[in-house]
Amino acid sequence: MGLVARAEGAYLGLALGDALGATVEFMTPREIRAAFAAEGGVHREIRGGGWLKLRAGHVTDDTTMALALGEAILADGGAVNATSCARAFDAWMRAKPVDIGNTVRRNLLAFRKTGDPKAPRSEHDAGNGAAMRLLPVALATFGRSEAGVIAAVRAQAHVTHNNPASDAACEFLALTVQDALRGTSLRDIYRGRIQPLLAAHPAFRFRPRRRENPSGWIVETLQAVLQSLLDTDSFEDCLIDVVNRGGDADTTGAIAGMLAGALYGPEALPDRWLRALEPTVGTACRRQARALLVA
Ligand code: MG
Ligand code: MG
Repeated sequence: MGLVARAEGAYLGLALGDALGATVEFMTPREIRAAFAAEGGVHREIRGGGWLKLRAGHVTDDTTMALALGEAILADGGAVNATSCARAFDAWMRAKPVDIGNTVRRNLLAFRKTGDPKAPRSEHDAGNGAAMRLLPVALATFGRSEAGVIAAVRAQAHVTHNNPASDAACEFLALTVQDALRGTSLRDIYRGRIQPLLAAHPAFRFRPRRRENPSGWIVETLQAVLQSLLDTDSFEDCLIDVVNRGGDADTTGAIAGMLAGALYGPEALPDRWLRALEPTVGTACRRQARALLVA
C-alpha cells in the first residue's frame, strides 16, 4: 500500500470518526446501550444527531479545524507558521462553527487582542483540542527530522494549547501517524512509540482499567484511543469500540480514525460510512492529504 493511499486513509478516517462519534458525544456507555437497544446496544452507523443535532454525514470542529489548518499550511508552501495557523483558526471561529472548545475560544480571542499566536503556558489547558486537528502537520512534515516535526507540532498546538500533557500527546500522535504512513505495524508502533510514551509520561498508562466515558482531557482521550487501537484489528472495529465508550466520542473517533486510517489504509474504510460522509468533506480530505504530502 502506498504512502498517498495511507494519507488519504488517515484524513478520511479522521472525518469518519468525527461524524460517527458526534452522534454519541457526551453520552455514557450505558446511555448508548439503551439508545441503540434495537441495534444490539451498539452505535455503528453515521447518521448525525447527537447534542449538536448534526445532519447525517456532517462533521464537527475536529475535522473542520484540521481542514482550516491544512489550507493555511498549503498556502505557506508546506511551512507550519504559528501566525498563519492562528489566523486560519480565527477565520474558522468567525464563520460560526457548529461547536468550539472553551480553550480554543479563549486563546483565539486573546490572539485577536494581542496578535501573539502563542498561548501562555497553562497547567489547565490540557484538553484534546490541539491533538484532534494535527493531522495536516503530520502530513506536511513527513520525511523531516524528528526535531523538525516536533517544532512544527508545537507551533500549531501552542496557538491554543500550551501545555505539557497536550505537547506529549501531540508529538506522539504526529510521529505515530508518520510511522503508520511508512507501513510500520501496530506491534512495532507499540514498541517504538507507545511504550516509550508511557515510560516518559506515566499519566497516559491505560492498563488494566478500561477507559470508559473519556473526557476532553487529553490523557483520558488518548487512553481510550490507544485501548481501542490495541484491542481491535480493523478500522471499523476500532472506531466502533472507541465511540461506544461515549464521552468526547467525536474526538476519540477522530483521533482513532486518523491512526487506524493510516494503519489499515483506505480499503479498510467501510463503504457505507464513506457514502454517508458529506461529499464536500470527503473531497477536501482527499485533496489535502495528497497536497500536504508534497507541500
Ligand atoms: Mg467536535
Ligand atoms: Mg469532541
